Amino acid sequence: MVSDTLYKKLSARVNELSKLPKLDDQKSIPKLIEENGFSRREFMTWAGTMTAMLALPASYTPLIAKAAEVADRLPVIWLHMAECTGCTESLLRSASPSIDSLIFDHISLEYQETIMSAAGWQAEQNLENAIEKYKDRYVLMVEGGIPHGKGSHFLTIGGHGKTGEQSAIDAAEHAAAIFAIGTCSSFGGVQAAAPNPTNATSLSNVTSKPVINVPGCPPSESNIVGTLLHFLLYGSLPALDAYNRPKWAYGLRIHDMCERRGHFDAGEFVEQFGDDGAKNGFCLYKVGCKGPYTFNNCSRQKFNEGTSWPVQAGHGCAGCSEPDFWDTMGVLHEPLADRLFHTTFGGLGSDATADKIGLGLLTVTAVGIAAHAAISAVKKPKE
Ligand code: SF4
Repeated sequence: MVSDTLYKKLSARVNELSKLPKLDDQKSIPKLIEENGFSRREFMTWAGTMTAMLALPASYTPLIAKAAEVADRLPVIWLHMAECTGCTESLLRSASPSIDSLIFDHISLEYQETIMSAAGWQAEQNLENAIEKYKDRYVLMVEGGIPHGKGSHFLTIGGHGKTGEQSAIDAAEHAAAIFAIGTCSSFGGVQAAAPNPTNATSLSNVTSKPVINVPGCPPSESNIVGTLLHFLLYGSLPALDAYNRPKWAYGLRIHDMCERRGHFDAGEFVEQFGDDGAKNGFCLYKVGCKGPYTFNNCSRQKFNEGTSWPVQAGHGCAGCSEPDFWDTMGVLHEPLADRLFHTTFGGLGSDATADKIGLGLLTVTAVGIAAHAAISAVKKPKE
């Protein structure tokens, strides 16, 4: 049970933040939310959802709302490394902005290459100025894998010939908190997939400072804003799992919260895309769903302003929030257990595919656990 002491502590922190001046001259966050057509009731409903997501009691909802309203007191520096900009785009380019994206859009983003107007030497100067001005106060968010060591020159930014790796190290040095946004920054992503020609790696592999990983390709906007809200409230790291992911967001498996789970348990599977099983919304395990091996809250938070998520749309989970998923999750439309039986668990017989196992559901689940252990075992930091 969360205590009154905690409530008082968090409340005191939010009150302190609210006394700080806004960091820029934009409209206040409550005003922006109102101007974008959200009523106070809708905002409080959103705050209630975020409160539940952060595993706090419903009575904390007003506190979460207040923390969101003072988010523009927190300076944020966002660096782009080797990536597709998909994490930024998914958060900022919605057709009609959600409350999450509005808050993110109007926090004090002191440096963000996608949305800032400065270019060239002015942009480089802005970054240096922001680091100096908000030393030890800013939150650093980094998107993208980082070409590292002997491959660092593959990402060279600006006129000074500085590598992306060095920029990340320098910006991390004086950050109050560091978030790796997306799977590329969290674990290297597609850039680090074999044969990894640029020697790309994760943010946590280039800085000795603690990094909170918010993986996903892309992560949901709620997970990004929730991580920011948690820092606003607590001023410290959230409880993290073995891969430094916040447990409130990545603590449970996709498989355990999936709307198709009943079909899995009943042995009702899509055998191929377009069949009757697909039309009936059956489980996607046999067409490659990696939900049993993947930790994330996609089924609850969804994407596209909470509209849907891959499994709801009829495609299996790709395992995108797991380390090295490009290399370790196998073929996209093939059950991972098939490969594991043919390779890691070859002793069980070459005909022991997931299809042959059929309704041996306990066995499939055991394979899932073993697969996750195998994936964990092969993950090593890149040199
Ligand atoms: S295997 Fe995939 S589709 Fe089937 S229940 Fe698990 S997460 Fe859902």
